[in-house]
Amino acid sequence: MDYLPLFHKLVGRRCLIVGGGQVAFRKLRTLCDAGAVITVVAPQVDNAILALADEYVQLNIQERPFALADLDDAVLVIVATDDKVLNANISKLAQMQKIDVNVVDQPELCTVIFPAIVDRSPVQVAISTGGVSPVLARLLRGQIEALLPARLGKLAELAGRYRDKAKATLKDTTARRVFWESVLQDAVPEQVYAENMPLAASMLESRLANAEQTSVGEVYLVGGGPGDPDLLTFRALRLMQQADVVLYDRLISPQVLDMVRRDAERIFVGKTAGSHPVTQANINDKLVELARQGNRVLRLKGGDPFIFGRGGEEIEKLADHGVRFQVVPGITAASGCASYAGIPLTHRDYAQSVRFITGHKQDKRLDLDWTGLVNANETLVFYMSLNGLEDISNNLIKHGMESDMPAALVENGTLRGQRVFTGTLLTLAKTVRENDAQAPTLLIVGRVVGLRARLNWYRSSTER
Ligand code: SAH
Repeated sequence: MDYLPLFHKLVGRRCLIVGGGQVAFRKLRTLCDAGAVITVVAPQVDNAILALADEYVQLNIQERPFALADLDDAVLVIVATDDKVLNANISKLAQMQKIDVNVVDQPELCTVIFPAIVDRSPVQVAISTGGVSPVLARLLRGQIEALLPARLGKLAELAGRYRDKAKATLKDTTARRVFWESVLQDAVPEQVYAENMPLAASMLESRLANAEQTSVGEVYLVGGGPGDPDLLTFRALRLMQQADVVLYDRLISPQVLDMVRRDAERIFVGKTAGSHPVTQANINDKLVELARQGNRVLRLKGGDPFIFGRGGEEIEKLADHGVRFQVVPGITAASGCASYAGIPLTHRDYAQSVRFITGHKQDKRLDLDWTGLVNANETLVFYMSLNGLEDISNNLIKHGMESDMPAALVENGTLRGQRVFTGTLLTLAKTVRENDAQAPTLLIVGRVVGLRARLNWYRSSTER
């Protein structure tokens, strides 16, 4: 983070603007909105600025060159002249006195920069690209402007009026948060936006009167997809941003975890092959316990929770204990890896069906119906199969699959570091070991793998 966004209270404080042209005028308008006491210094001042002085009493215009004493008592200096030497000089003088300074279009001379602002006061959204691309900031502002209702500020004001009352009525912080979240998401905002403030206020009051002292927790069992955060569903993202606490697995990529609400508590419950630091039973109990305390608990799992995810077991326990839950599907590793490797899982010419199989060994043995798996018109996808790769290849060949059947192993599928190894049942394992592939990996066996040569579209950072 090159700049820390803060909101600056300028009401009644002195700001200096050096410069009297168009650019100075735009900054001046913003400072007027912020209620600052403003001095404009410039040998020549535009009429627009002079006119503003008639409306805005806290504006003092000095038509003369800048002088050192102009910095006295200023908390913020804005420099908007086209004299580069003067700009640099004022920036230096201000910084020597620890006064924040903004030199328009010269970020290297600034201690503070202006964001693009979406103003729904008291709600404000400030957008910055760190001065790198003001045009991008403006485009984003346009998008956010379109997203936020014009009367959003009124909604915030209404909430502000009832803040103390809600605090007094609902002592428990969780109950209070749940109350506000429900009020701010349902019919009350609609009344505000329809300019029906008295109705909005009475609805809010009756909600407060009926608000339960205890809140009800809930568990969101959410599929986080194979790794690329762009592959999350909208619902996954919405619930991730609401959660109070998140229990996540090893497969959750840092990029996906980053999308969880900033102040949510994070609990890692990952299992690694062979070691089980947190047992499944512990996780199930923890979910029940956290939800009963009134939390919105996000159980974030890699891929899809219902595909080799033990999601079913977790919600069985919730159902037994009467805890509310919802399930959000995710893109499973097979779909994600196949897409990003350019391997269609089915294809009219090569595979009429696809099977998802676990390659995880129970007691060091892989117990699968090998004969049933040998079918040249079906694609086989093996999850958890890195250790068993040789076993799987040998068994398939032994039970009648062609040894030159194409096969691919996708490592870190959909992520920037994705690697894809291709070969045949006979050769793939050797290539994979030579390249020291590491989990997570997914094995795809079938004639569709041959299509990758033409359909491979995704260039990961390792392929550059
Ligand atoms: N519920 C998950 C699967 C959990 S089992 C899903 O639907 O995807 C864990 C296995 O998923 C790993 O051993 C690996 O085979 C596979 N896997 C998950 N993410 C992967 C990724 N990004 N790249 C390759 N394989 C992945």
